[in-house]
Amino acid sequence: MGITDFERYPLTFGPSPVHPLDNLTKHLGGASVWAKREDVSSGLAFGGNKTRKLEYIVPDVLASGADTLVSIGGYQSNHTRQVAAVAAKLGLKARLVQERWVDWDDPVNDTVGNLLLSRIMGADSRLDDAGFDIGIRSSWEEALAEVEAAGGRPYGIPAGASEHKYGGLGFANWAYEVAQQERELGVFFDTIVVCTVTGSTHAGMIAGFAALEDAGGRPRRVLGIDASATIEVTRDQVGRIARHTAQLIGLERELRDDEITVLEGWAGDRYGIPVDSTVDAILTSGRLEAMIIDPVYEGKSMAGLIDLVRSGEIADDSTVLYAHLGGQPALNAYSGIFPWS
Ligand code: PLP
Repeated sequence: MGITDFERYPLTFGPSPVHPLDNLTKHLGGASVWAKREDVSSGLAFGGNKTRKLEYIVPDVLASGADTLVSIGGYQSNHTRQVAAVAAKLGLKARLVQERWVDWDDPVNDTVGNLLLSRIMGADSRLDDAGFDIGIRSSWEEALAEVEAAGGRPYGIPAGASEHKYGGLGFANWAYEVAQQERELGVFFDTIVVCTVTGSTHAGMIAGFAALEDAGGRPRRVLGIDASATIEVTRDQVGRIARHTAQLIGLERELRDDEITVLEGWAGDRYGIPVDSTVDAILTSGRLEAMIIDPVYEGKSMAGLIDLVRSGEIADDSTVLYAHLGGQPALNAYSGIFPWS
């Protein structure tokens, strides 16, 4: 069994673009930094990492005969916005539980950005007062039961599409895509930097790159930057999903602990609350590369990349690939964090 044995329903334009970040590289004065852009690789409501994960989940949705996708996230969840987009595209309904994962008082937090987009696409998006937790939630189970009681046929997609049997496949395939792009570009990325919260993006990459390495590829580091601020929960979840995905794609050995690297130091104290390094990273990326990143996820992983390159933890002769996983719509709920506001 390998990754190509799994059905993939196309929701993206094809391989996501890879390009160098020359100005950032020069600014940091160390490793060469490139980006691979999930934020510009789908026509469905701005795309992002969940769109790629959902490509491997949609065949199961269609086979189930479901008429309603039921999912969960924070108010400004990129994941629920992408579920709403896929539902719209497939002619299904979407029932979304939007929990108060972030104690964030921006006056438009519960109306703009991802919530606005989901509602425009016709999702039944309802707010819930519960706080942050990446696990399976009773509110989500209740929403599934409600849809069923009303005569619908629900299909449940957990937070971040991570705790789904196929949640890791999208980014296992991302690893194969990177290997193909490396051949085309004549470059090798010895270090990957990726934001991790619910875990299956990072986990899928770990499994995919391990399979490539076992097939004779060069070893590389896949560094997850925690943005959950609940590091142990995320680390466990990444390990579990990576091992499950590795099995699915036919890895003939157990993943080693040293292949599962989730780094802390840039999440701040709470999920969804930007800290100084997040704001600096957003401004650096915007001003040097016109590459827009968000305050919840990519701002934190970029802050990690900047520090790791500056400190030499990512060596000067490295070529590092920054996984841009999308998420910009949430910026609308965070105007207050910038120095001019
Ligand atoms: N980056 C963005 C923009 C996201 O929306 C998410 C979702 O949680 C992540 C990173 C983290 O990905 P994962 O939940 O698969 O760890």
